[in-house]
Formats: sequence, structure tokens, C-alpha cells
Amino acid sequence: MAKSASKLSLNVSPSVSAVSAVSAADERWMEEALRCAQRALEAGEVPVGAVVVSDGQVVGRGWNRNLTDCDPTAHAEIVAMREAGRNLGNHRLGACELFATIEPCAMCAGAAVHARLRRLVYGADDPKAGAAHSVLQVLNHPKLNHRMEVQAGVLAGRAAEMLQEFFRNRR
Ligand code: ZN
Repeated sequence: MAKSASKLSLNVSPSVSAVSAVSAADERWMEEALRCAQRALEAGEVPVGAVVVSDGQVVGRGWNRNLTDCDPTAHAEIVAMREAGRNLGNHRLGACELFATIEPCAMCAGAAVHARLRRLVYGADDPKAGAAHSVLQVLNHPKLNHRMEVQAGVLAGRAAEMLQEFFRNRR
């Protein structure tokens, strides 16, 4: 069993390395998003972070600012997309990827559809509010015409751990 498994992994190594090259870039940007989440944590906000990447560069950064700004819409993803729109001078972010530490909620997923994002990469699933697939399916809904590539689970453990610790300490 182990022998055939190792043989199999040898046989598929070219595609495996191609996949791991993609996820290395994804992990690099997710590290940036996690740094943003850390900023939220330091401000006493729910530690969620997001970055928007265009052409290999960060064009928007955000972390939750609901308490700081008294703004119910100030989720990390919204903040990052607003900054990206300003930086690119465009309300459409069709060439951009959004990296978020947690599965976006319905509001943020809706905004990602309005922005016509090309790709979403997120960390941990959110079983209470996730709108990629966990609770609702706002992204790639059969009745919406925008299609977006979605990659889940990138550095998910670290994103989830940060949130769990935050809520543990609050109790
Ligand atoms: Zn949200």
C-alpha cells in the first residue's frame, strides 16, 4: 500500500509540483492576509484579514474595522476591495484575486460578484456565515452570471486558530 502510494506520487510528480507552485503563491498572499488579520486583532476587532492582488502586487489591504469605524459593512474583504478600486481607478476588479483568511459572508461575497473578481482564495470555512458554500452559495450561484474561481483551505488552520483564540479570550 505504502509502496504503491509512493510510486503513485512519483508518477504524478510533474503535476504535483505545478500544483504546489500555485499554492506557494497562494500561501504567500495568504500570509499577507493573515498579517492584516493580526492588525484587526491588535485593534480588538474580530481577526479577519484580506488582500487584493493584481498582476503579482497587493493593490488593497483590509482588516475588520467594524468597531473602529462604527461601520457594519467594514469587513476585511470590503475594506480591501474599496482600496483596490481606488488604487486601480476602477470599480471592476476583473483581473484581481481576493485572498481572505475566512470564507466571505453574504455581503462580502456579493461585493466580490459586483467587483467581477477573477478569483477568490480563502482560508477557513465559516460554518455560521460563509457564503461560498457553507451557509449560502452567493459565489457561482447558478442564477448569477459571474463565474469566479474559488480556492478554499489555504493556511486554514492558522486563520481558524486566530479566530478561536480571539473568541476564547473574549468569553
Ligand atoms: Zn463579510
